[in-house]
Amino acid sequence: MATDTSTSSSSISTETSASKRKRWKSRAVSRTVDAGNSAYCAVCDELIKFRARIRAEQIICNVYVKNRWDRVEHYHPECYAEAGTPYGEPKD
Ligand SMILES: [Zn+2]
Repeated sequence: MATDTSTSSSSISTETSASKRKRWKSRAVSRTVDAGNSAYCAVCDELIKFRARIRAEQIICNVYVKNRWDRVEHYHPECYAEAGTPYGEPKD
Protein backbone atom coordinates (compact mmCIF):
# COMPACT_ATOMS: atom_id res chain seq x y z
CA MET A 1 0.00 0.00 0.00
CA ALA A 2 3.04 2.32 -0.03
CA THR A 3 3.38 2.53 -3.79
CA ASP A 4 1.29 5.60 -4.42
CA THR A 5 3.66 8.07 -6.03
CA SER A 6 1.12 9.65 -8.32
CA THR A 7 0.30 12.59 -6.10
CA SER A 8 3.70 13.28 -4.64
CA SER A 9 4.73 15.74 -7.35
CA SER A 10 1.58 17.79 -7.07
CA SER A 11 1.96 21.27 -5.69
CA ILE A 12 -1.73 21.86 -5.13
CA SER A 13 -2.09 23.35 -1.71
CA THR A 14 -4.79 22.60 0.77
CA GLU A 15 -5.36 26.19 1.78
CA THR A 16 -9.10 26.05 1.20
CA SER A 17 -9.66 23.32 3.72
CA ALA A 18 -11.11 25.63 6.33
CA SER A 19 -14.61 26.78 5.56
CA LYS A 20 -15.41 27.48 1.93
CA ARG A 21 -16.25 24.12 0.57
CA LYS A 22 -18.44 24.16 -2.45
CA ARG A 23 -20.99 21.45 -2.59
CA TRP A 24 -21.12 20.20 -6.13
CA LYS A 25 -24.27 18.57 -7.19
CA SER A 26 -24.81 16.55 -10.33
CA ARG A 27 -27.05 18.37 -12.71
CA ALA A 28 -28.66 17.97 -16.07
CA VAL A 29 -29.15 20.38 -18.92
CA SER A 30 -31.04 20.10 -22.16
CA ARG A 31 -29.16 21.04 -25.31
CA THR A 32 -29.81 20.79 -29.00
CA VAL A 33 -27.77 18.15 -30.77
CA ASP A 34 -25.06 19.62 -32.97
CA ALA A 35 -24.10 18.29 -36.36
CA GLY A 36 -21.15 15.99 -35.84
CA ASN A 37 -22.24 15.08 -32.35
CA SER A 38 -20.53 11.89 -31.31
CA ALA A 39 -21.92 11.25 -27.85
CA TYR A 40 -23.50 7.98 -26.92
CA CYS A 41 -26.53 7.65 -24.72
CA ALA A 42 -25.73 6.34 -21.26
CA VAL A 43 -28.92 4.30 -21.20
CA CYS A 44 -29.34 2.68 -24.59
CA ASP A 45 -25.74 3.00 -25.83
CA GLU A 46 -26.88 4.41 -29.15
CA LEU A 47 -25.29 7.42 -30.79
CA ILE A 48 -27.26 10.59 -30.16
CA LYS A 49 -27.69 11.68 -33.74
CA PHE A 50 -28.05 15.09 -35.20
CA ARG A 51 -31.14 15.35 -37.32
CA ALA A 52 -31.46 18.23 -39.72
CA ARG A 53 -35.22 18.38 -39.93
CA ILE A 54 -36.19 18.19 -36.34
CA ARG A 55 -34.61 20.05 -33.49
CA ALA A 56 -33.21 17.05 -31.70
CA GLU A 57 -32.39 17.48 -28.04
CA GLN A 58 -30.03 15.66 -25.78
CA ILE A 59 -29.65 15.67 -22.04
CA ILE A 60 -26.15 16.41 -20.82
CA CYS A 61 -25.34 15.63 -17.21
CA ASN A 62 -22.33 16.74 -15.24
CA VAL A 63 -21.92 13.98 -12.73
CA TYR A 64 -20.23 14.64 -9.42
CA VAL A 65 -19.07 11.84 -7.17
CA LYS A 66 -18.04 12.61 -3.61
CA ASN A 67 -18.21 16.33 -4.29
CA ARG A 68 -15.85 16.10 -7.24
CA TRP A 69 -16.60 16.26 -10.93
CA ASP A 70 -16.44 12.76 -12.26
CA ARG A 71 -17.82 12.61 -15.78
CA VAL A 72 -20.28 13.85 -18.34
CA GLU A 73 -23.12 11.65 -19.40
CA HIS A 74 -25.34 12.09 -22.42
CA TYR A 75 -28.87 10.86 -22.81
CA HIS A 76 -31.68 10.83 -25.29
CA PRO A 77 -34.45 12.86 -23.64
CA GLU A 78 -36.75 9.84 -23.70
CA CYS A 79 -34.06 7.59 -22.24
CA TYR A 80 -33.37 10.09 -19.50
CA ALA A 81 -37.05 10.22 -18.61
CA GLU A 82 -37.23 6.45 -18.72
CA ALA A 83 -34.31 6.23 -16.30
CA GLY A 84 -36.29 8.35 -13.87
CA THR A 85 -34.42 11.66 -14.38
CA PRO A 86 -31.48 10.49 -12.23
CA TYR A 87 -29.90 13.96 -12.02
CA GLY A 88 -33.03 16.02 -11.72
CA GLU A 89 -35.11 17.90 -14.21
CA PRO A 90 -32.97 19.09 -17.11
CA LYS A 91 -32.60 22.84 -17.37
CA ASP A 92 -32.47 24.82 -20.58
ZN1 LIG B 1 -30.90 6.52 -25.48
